[in-house]
Amino acid sequence: QLKEQRTNDYQFYSASISKSFEALLSMEADLSKARELKEFEVHYQPQTNIETGEIIGCEALLRWNHSQKGYIPPGVFIPVLEKNNQINEMGEWILQQACHQNKKWQDEGCPPIVVSVNLSAKQLHDPDLVSTVRKALKDSELAACYLELEITESMAMTNETTVLKTLQELRHLGVQVSIDDFGTGYSSLQYLSRFPVNKLKIDKVFLHENKGRNEAIVKSIIHMSHALNLRVIAEGIETEEQLKFLQSEKCDEGQGYFFSKPLPAHETKKWMTQVGET
Ligand code: C2E
Ligand code: MG
Ligand code: MG
Ligand code: MG
Repeated sequence: QLKEQRTNDYQFYSASISKSFEALLSMEADLSKARELKEFEVHYQPQTNIETGEIIGCEALLRWNHSQKGYIPPGVFIPVLEKNNQINEMGEWILQQACHQNKKWQDEGCPPIVVSVNLSAKQLHDPDLVSTVRKALKDSELAACYLELEITESMAMTNETTVLKTLQELRHLGVQVSIDDFGTGYSSLQYLSRFPVNKLKIDKVFLHENKGRNEAIVKSIIHMSHALNLRVIAEGIETEEQLKFLQSEKCDEGQGYFFSKPLPAHETKKWMTQVGET
């Protein structure tokens, strides 16, 4: 009986492996067609000045609307693009979209805001990154100060010398750099004193879990940022209570569902103009 059980377990196990393998293969095939089918879209989530509520920026977030399977989250398909070395090309497309869109809003008379674009590890370590960014700015005619690139702690910590050089070149162009998901990367703080970054983005887990202890951590990150002359933004603000807390701690900026979820470009524009009016 035991043996039979084991055989069943094995069959179940191998069936689920081959099922997930099939799923991966079909996702890979779908991903390579998705661009052509225009299933990708860049959405934008407003970032506000936490004291005044004014929009000061937005984060570009990639959306994949699969024609049959519907919405597939970036956390699911971006690792597949990375694995298949498609992320650099995709990343360049996102950069171009974000820069052109931001310039378009400015040309339409919206108050200028910064668009921030997430970089994947492979992009940050790509020797062509700086020229890709320079080209996106040139093609779109967006001034460099209105583009921000988000990297994570762990990306900054691998291949430090090369990354440092890349970041210095980006800063030299006038582009801003922020550390995304700050506080979750198991990394030493040493890089903060050496890397030319402008802003820390406090990860949303610090607002969503273990309230008491995490409030102390959030306060410390805000104070540390200011002591280092960095701006600081809190991600994942969902409630007025969280907003009040961050206001009282003098956090500079905020982003989260409390203000707005990520929106298609035309809705982001509506949001900008409506908020501007009230
Ligand atoms: P991230 O860069 O930390 O982006 C923030 C994520 O938090 C987004 O998830 C956003 O929709 C979500 N979020 C915003 N406000 C709230 C809130 O109030 N509550 C909660 N619970 N969540 C909130 P999304 O769009 O699913 O993206 C997940 C991750 O996928 C991103 O995390 C980023 O690491 C990656 N990603 C998204 N777009 C791109 C892209 O264009 N390029 C690259 N390389 N990565 C991307
Ligand atoms: Mg981000
Ligand atoms: Mg984040
Ligand atoms: Mg994240």
